[in-house]
Amino acid sequence: MENTAVVATDLETILRVAVDAPLMRLFDYLPPRGSGPEPAPGQRVHVPFGRGQRVGVIASLASESAVPAEKLRHAQAIIDSEPLLDESLRELLDWTAGYYQHPVGEVYATALPKLLRLGRDTAEPEQRWFATSAGSDIDLDALTRRAPVQARILAAIRQAGNGLAAGDLELARDSWRRGIVALEEKCLVESRAVAVPENEPLPGPELNAAQSEAVHAIRATDGFAVSLLEGVTGSGKTEVYLACIREFAERGLQSLVLVPEIGLTPQLVQRFRQRLGVPMALLHSGLSDSERLNAWCRAADGSAPVIIGTRSAVFAPLPKPGLIVVDEEHDASLKQQDGLRYSARDLAVWRARQLNIPVVLGSATPALESLENARSGRYRLLELPERPGRAQAPEVRLIDLRQRPATDGLSGPLLDAIERHLRADGQVLIYLNRRGFAPVLMCTGCGQVTECRRCDARMVYHMRRAQIVCHHCGSERPAPQHCEHCGESLTPVGQGTERLEAALAQRFPDYPLVRIDRDTTRRRGEIERRLELVRSGEARLLLGTQMLTKGHDFPNVTLVGVVDADQGLFGTDFRSSERMAQSFVQVSGRAGRAERPGEVFIQTLFPDHPLLTRLVRNGYHAFALDALDARRDSQWPPFAYLALLRAEAARREMVFEFLEEARVAGAGLLPRGVELLGPAPAPMERRAGRYRGQLLVRSAQRAGLQRFLTGWRAAFEPVRSARRVRWSLDVDPSELV
Ligand code: ADP
Ligand code: ZN
Repeated sequence: MENTAVVATDLETILRVAVDAPLMRLFDYLPPRGSGPEPAPGQRVHVPFGRGQRVGVIASLASESAVPAEKLRHAQAIIDSEPLLDESLRELLDWTAGYYQHPVGEVYATALPKLLRLGRDTAEPEQRWFATSAGSDIDLDALTRRAPVQARILAAIRQAGNGLAAGDLELARDSWRRGIVALEEKCLVESRAVAVPENEPLPGPELNAAQSEAVHAIRATDGFAVSLLEGVTGSGKTEVYLACIREFAERGLQSLVLVPEIGLTPQLVQRFRQRLGVPMALLHSGLSDSERLNAWCRAADGSAPVIIGTRSAVFAPLPKPGLIVVDEEHDASLKQQDGLRYSARDLAVWRARQLNIPVVLGSATPALESLENARSGRYRLLELPERPGRAQAPEVRLIDLRQRPATDGLSGPLLDAIERHLRADGQVLIYLNRRGFAPVLMCTGCGQVTECRRCDARMVYHMRRAQIVCHHCGSERPAPQHCEHCGESLTPVGQGTERLEAALAQRFPDYPLVRIDRDTTRRRGEIERRLELVRSGEARLLLGTQMLTKGHDFPNVTLVGVVDADQGLFGTDFRSSERMAQSFVQVSGRAGRAERPGEVFIQTLFPDHPLLTRLVRNGYHAFALDALDARRDSQWPPFAYLALLRAEAARREMVFEFLEEARVAGAGLLPRGVELLGPAPAPMERRAGRYRGQLLVRSAQRAGLQRFLTGWRAAFEPVRSARRVRWSLDVDPSELV
């Protein structure tokens, strides 16, 4: 250890900076030389880092540093004159870094749009042109005779209603630019900076008693409270959110709405926009860098009363906090599965507590964790037991595939039902969570199946592409004609959506069919186009994977067919049955959303399976209570807290050498109530040519787990075998794979 002449000053002149680097600490700097903004936490700053330069964020100021004086360097320049990240946001980020055992600089980087991370300026609101009252009244014909270009521009602005952005006007053309200047000089138009156009809100339906009660309970909250809004699909949860958000917006307060990736469809955004009529900032993965910057800045300057986004929007600035909503709170996409492995739902609850505001978790199929919190009284349960108006809950039927064998995956009773519903002008939705033509390509001679060369997995046959594809690592190659072992011919076994599409098209040639899965929606805009075919009623048969189960409102679907229930029944993960039940209920919820009663057919080889019968007879809530009892008996979450150390490497020994060293390092630190399980191979041990293993930490208490993790990480991180693997620590893992 070198000499430690600690730099100590009377003033807080040491900048403690969060730098985007994979290290579990802040970095100390002296303030920049020369003049500039007064340093304050939350400002971005250019700092020298190694041999290069980085943009960091001042996390705090300190009066001393443990860095030897001669090594302490000056920051180069402070970028922001005012803090970009306010105190409450910094607290959230600091807490996130600690809780998820993640480098704090990377957490700060996650919270910032890319352009801000690069040191770019914040974005000003967009300028839009509006007609003045004189401009609205003037006779366009008369103007056309005198100044045709000006008349055309004014007509366009008048027609737009919300004004036109500079980008909408053809300002690149000289004549237009001159035209708009002339119009402005005549006071016929004016430009104003607006975040996003506003419009007259459309009226919504009158809330029913359960909805009103929920809205009342949420807005009567003084300060922090978590409401779990459990309502079957189509019961009107979104209307409850809208009513609450409107109320907060009227009080000048912002609402942050988190939705699953797939839920942030143009349809949902459109509905929010029409019904609220206020500026909204949208944050999702489909944005360009400058769109993201603009949305972030409208949240940060408070000009957007509504911020709606996917998982990472939980880190959006919220200077006027009013309400947080997490829609489809059970959805797996709210948990990030790489890098900073945070749960946006859990962070939303933490953030609401810190901001002292209400948070609403909504779902037809709440996570077992949330239901347990409601049962224990930590969350308030608000139920919407019925669909509004005449919409009825669908009738659910199990079809025993042992008695009613299927051809091409479709049993007689399901085929009859499809026919019946199509003839009665209904739409039919067929659900199979498996894309491709067939999940297995098998040899007719020796029975060998074609496997991925890089994973412990089978290759999926895609007939139209004439390829076999691994759905785990993406490897693909031309579909072989003959078995590589014995030379006999190969035959596809089992159903995928591609095969089902062919079978349905052959059976029901007169009815337009739309398939929605990752393969058919690769092109930009394709998913919207296909969903529109369904909504408009043009498509009569609808076939798809998981992509179909979430959030979409298909009012004319009257029959849902679940082709293969057994996929979810025997999963290896402790959450498998919960996920199975959620996707069943979600997909069933697509039936009978409007006036027409719906039917659901579920095909299974195990019609007596207790989970399945409980779900079908008594519904999700009853199923969930049973499942919670089972979790308690076996000490799984929410009755225990988990963290998972995963490792992967090119060779198996490297993985287990590291995990074993980590286990030994942890064994000496274990507090009471915390145990280490493993190491063990991952359920799919080899993936993309790499071997994978894991070590599970289980604890009776969250606090005990947290204390252990901090010490443990510090103990295993420096061991030599750690450098030969890629490892990650997942706190509250959503899957043990
Ligand atoms: P969820 O979010 O629970 O799936 P939505 O809020 O989307 O449900 O409502 C489902 C459908 O029912 C929508 O078409 C919505 O306009 C309609 N709806 C909701 N609440 C009412 C109500 N109180 N009266 C009439 N229709 C309603
Ligand atoms: Zn593979």
